[in-house]
Amino acid sequence: MVVNPLIRHKQGWIEVICGCMFSGKTEELIRRVRTALIAKQKVQLFNSKIDTRYGLDSIISHNQNKVAAICVKTSAEILQHVEKDTQVVAIDEINFFDKGLVAVCEELANKGKRVIVAGLDTDYRAEPFEVMAALMAKAEYVTKNLAVCTKCGNPASFTQRISKDKKRIVVGTTDSYQARCRRCYKKPRD
Ligand code: ADP
Ligand code: MG
Ligand code: ZN
Repeated sequence: MVVNPLIRHKQGWIEVICGCMFSGKTEELIRRVRTALIAKQKVQLFNSKIDTRYGLDSIISHNQNKVAAICVKTSAEILQHVEKDTQVVAIDEINFFDKGLVAVCEELANKGKRVIVAGLDTDYRAEPFEVMAALMAKAEYVTKNLAVCTKCGNPASFTQRISKDKKRIVVGTTDSYQARCRRCYKKPRD
């Protein structure tokens, strides 16, 4: 992602990082947060309370990269936590959030903040997560990452659920999900 050098000071915008599971979304989010911290910007990082994989005070990528984060249940809580002088607001796993997140991100960007969001673009049935679809349409910058297909090694953009759960949101890692390419992904029948 190249940020336009002509962007004026204090202008906000929205950046989206999307893709299937294991595609490096969290790693990329952490990289952008670290870069902003090196530039001495005030950053606030959020995660969903639903994401209980790694504790409730940090974000950790699948390769154990870790940064501190505030865990919240709703998009409204994010607005309450963001401080006036914060320059960068980063949010991971936006697929876990309510629809209100779209307006929250727009409000923060309109206030001059750089908003970076990361999350799944589609669920285990390969259907779009509505919050992500809306934010991809409204964002200034969209990055789509691909993972490696666990069956054949080709670039993968699908998340195959290997457990039998039928709920849309089931928190898990390699025990319940695999990255698959278009050929190797099998859409669940029911
Ligand atoms: P995401 O947030 O998109 O689920 P992470 O950023 O947490 O992904 O983790 C990405 C890391 O996961 C990769 O750098 C790699 O070390 C590891 N990984 C494990 N399985 C795969 C896979 N099938 N394809 C790509 N990376 C994988
Ligand atoms: Mg992640
Ligand atoms: Zn494949």
